[in-house]
Amino acid sequence: MFKLLIIEDSIMMQKVIKHVAEAELNCAYDLASNLAQAKEFITANQYFLALADLHLPDATKGEIVDLLLDAGITTIVLTASMDERKRKLMLNKGVLDYIYKENRDSYFHAVKLANQILKNRNITVLLADDSKTLRTHIRRQLEKMLFNVVEVINGVEALIALDMNPNIELLITDFNMPEMNGIELIRAIRKTKSRDSFPIIGLSASNDPTLSAQFIKYGANDFLTTPFIHEEFQWRILKTMEQIKLIKKITDLANKDYLTGLYNRRYFFSAANKLHNNALQAHSELVVALVDIDYFKKINDNYGHDSGDAVLIQLSAMLQNNFKGFTVARYGGEEFIIVIEKVAVRQCAQLFEQFRSDISSRNFTIPDGHLSLTVSIGVAVLAQEPLENLINKADIALYKAKQTGRNRVIFDQLAVST
Ligand code: GH3
Ligand code: MG
Ligand code: MG
Repeated sequence: MFKLLIIEDSIMMQKVIKHVAEAELNCAYDLASNLAQAKEFITANQYFLALADLHLPDATKGEIVDLLLDAGITTIVLTASMDERKRKLMLNKGVLDYIYKENRDSYFHAVKLANQILKNRNITVLLADDSKTLRTHIRRQLEKMLFNVVEVINGVEALIALDMNPNIELLITDFNMPEMNGIELIRAIRKTKSRDSFPIIGLSASNDPTLSAQFIKYGANDFLTTPFIHEEFQWRILKTMEQIKLIKKITDLANKDYLTGLYNRRYFFSAANKLHNNALQAHSELVVALVDIDYFKKINDNYGHDSGDAVLIQLSAMLQNNFKGFTVARYGGEEFIIVIEKVAVRQCAQLFEQFRSDISSRNFTIPDGHLSLTVSIGVAVLAQEPLENLINKADIALYKAKQTGRNRVIFDQLAVST
């Protein structure tokens, strides 16, 4: 449905493109060798982006660009000629970028850009600026990069928009705005959203050199001095988004289990300690459950380690689904831990029983077919005690579940008597 169109006449370049696209590109693509073929493709397909060579055998003067822009397709020009005048002309026409074809790297660069633009279609950017002219200008640039855009005229409106649209992933904000200025806005946002999780770019006019420093100091990830040239705007945004993505990747690597994607034990303890402290202070409910697969060793022994892994992955997905919004982690090999806060014990019991029953009736897919299995669950309820005690109680309850026949949910002594 959403494909990339590449227009290139050189057979050698086509080979390079195919190679790079197959290795890196995250969507389908068509390859046209000339203007006529590109026309046919455009009539028959929908493209979100085109990478176009300026010199084609049947269109030597860059006519391809007009064809693409007239068809409403975002266009990146790839060209062998270093012509500054032509570069300006193309950018003024409205192409997104002008890339010199120097070597294979140029195509990697173009394909990376294409991947980002493909993603942008699902990203909403909040634009806060009281000047309608600047808003319109920036909106156009963002839309060319296929972002969805929400506009507001001051900081107060920006905070409301953020509350109402949880899918906003980037804020671009001016400084001078009525009611709440850009710095005040950033400080308000940073109380709940860190620099590593929510990117903000400040807009500062070139006649105030201190402003960019202030933006960074109070929590912006980057700034743009207005008026800016189109390429700087585009690359600063892409670079900021890429940084956030990298930070998320690194955090995930540190906090998540590689096999199941669940939080690992280390992350679990930092999250659980916070929940535990809150519950102690507020005297609120906190329930911990240990889930352990019954006779898991037999699954490995009978069907192989790969089947064991497949089961762990599927069971983890079910845990995430059944306990959405709560803390779920892989505690050990085939043992998982769940913390539920501020939910009545009786309701928690229902959730655990439902999970046990869902597991026992599920068909797990393994390389050689299907298998079924059961889990035992030990549950403990917080009674003004250290976290370690609470987990110990859950462990004792789990042991009891195993001893008394497996495939069951057992609460620790204290919880049963309450
Ligand atoms: P019980 O019902 O008493 O819990 O028995 P069990 O066989 O489930 O428990 P046991 O502790 O004896 O065996 C757990 C097995 O889990 C042993 C270990 O090799 C296996 N295991 C641990 N981590 C992984 C993993 O990541 N992948 C696979 N496939 N197996 C794992
Ligand atoms: Mg087990
Ligand atoms: Mg075990």
